[in-house]
Amino acid sequence: MLSYEQARQIILENITPVGTEQVDIVEAIGRVLVEDVVAPWDMPLWDNSAMDGYAVRIADCSEISCKLKVTGYIPAGARADGVEVKPGCAVKIMTGAPIPSGADAVVPIEETEETSGEQVAIQAPVALCQHIRYRGEDVRSGQTVIAGGTIIRPPEVSMLASLGRARVPVFIRPLVAILSTGDELIEVGRTPGAGELINSNTLSLAAAVREAGGIPRIIGIARDNLESHREKLQEGLKADMLVTSAGVSAGDRDLVRVVLDELGVKQVFWKVGVKPGKPTAFGVKDGKPVFSLPGNPVASLITFEEFVRPALLRMMGQCQVLRPTFRAILNEDIKNKESDRTTLLRIRLEREGDRFYASTSGKQQTGLLKTMVNSAAIAVIPPGRGFMAAGEEVDVHFFGSYIDLI
Ligand code: AMP
Ligand code: MG
Repeated sequence: MLSYEQARQIILENITPVGTEQVDIVEAIGRVLVEDVVAPWDMPLWDNSAMDGYAVRIADCSEISCKLKVTGYIPAGARADGVEVKPGCAVKIMTGAPIPSGADAVVPIEETEETSGEQVAIQAPVALCQHIRYRGEDVRSGQTVIAGGTIIRPPEVSMLASLGRARVPVFIRPLVAILSTGDELIEVGRTPGAGELINSNTLSLAAAVREAGGIPRIIGIARDNLESHREKLQEGLKADMLVTSAGVSAGDRDLVRVVLDELGVKQVFWKVGVKPGKPTAFGVKDGKPVFSLPGNPVASLITFEEFVRPALLRMMGQCQVLRPTFRAILNEDIKNKESDRTTLLRIRLEREGDRFYASTSGKQQTGLLKTMVNSAAIAVIPPGRGFMAAGEEVDVHFFGSYIDLI
């Protein structure tokens, strides 16, 4: 049986991006830029004022309270062509307006006093170049400002817009087919009768796909017979990735792998040394990844988190596909029955100073969903550790949106 680490590695080795597309820069948020962006011009494009104030020559401002003649006014949006600051003079200027010739500093309005409409007194020392933003100071024409492979965030959007780029090439969001299997399943919206169970996996997996940046495509429920599996799996294989839940163990109604094989999906592995999630299967058809996850709602979410999500991020061109991992100190003893496999514990995290503390979020039986709801991270307990004592350190994969602060 493959180890948890081997399975993660083999999956990533089998994943390639779906393709690329041009999108508006706001639509590019959270997505990966395909190629370097080179600046077509300098930024700023011309020397301009960083303050509302007066453009001056510092040679005229050696004494405090020197008086200068105001000979012009340049608001933002105006041009400075033909405007010059002559010796003994100042030009009133607004933030962002171009610096007139002759000026070598801007004095903020707060450090001046207009003595009449035509004269201004400089009330503070003036340094050469102060409050001037020089052409090309931020970015030089021809410089690579954003490297291919970067994830676009609002600052990148700002840079792209400033450089005149309205659209950029990014990796495509994969279409991910989601299929649940089982005769016991009913769709949400109806109260289950005897023997019935709400199909929550389709929705939790669709949400997880969306959170990772993919586009979920719900295929519905395959019933526990070959015809239904054939129809639904065939439909699911039209997407860029297929994720199924349940029907992947060794039971006589577990038909997912049988039918995937029939449909030409090459099984890369079945069964991984993790708990929960042992029956997870991974296959490929024409480069398309197919994940068959266990049916148990906790197991399906944890295996999505640990195996499918990294693959999905890699398909979208991301390099850093694993959740942030850090060390946390156990708050309590962990007794681990199935210690031949890597155990993925659902935990809560607390921070005290620069240390993180891990507590289990409840009983770890795979059937208990509330423990998953109450967790912010997964603690990775290596195989062979049947007991871990409070105070020992473990690796944790943080997927929550917050860490409790003590
Ligand atoms: P199986 O792998 O088919 O034996 O299913 C394992 C467990 O997961 C059973 O208790 C199922 O009822 C449950 N289960 C299977 N599919 C779903 C689903 N789509 N939503 C919620 N629970 C499910
Ligand atoms: Mg079943």
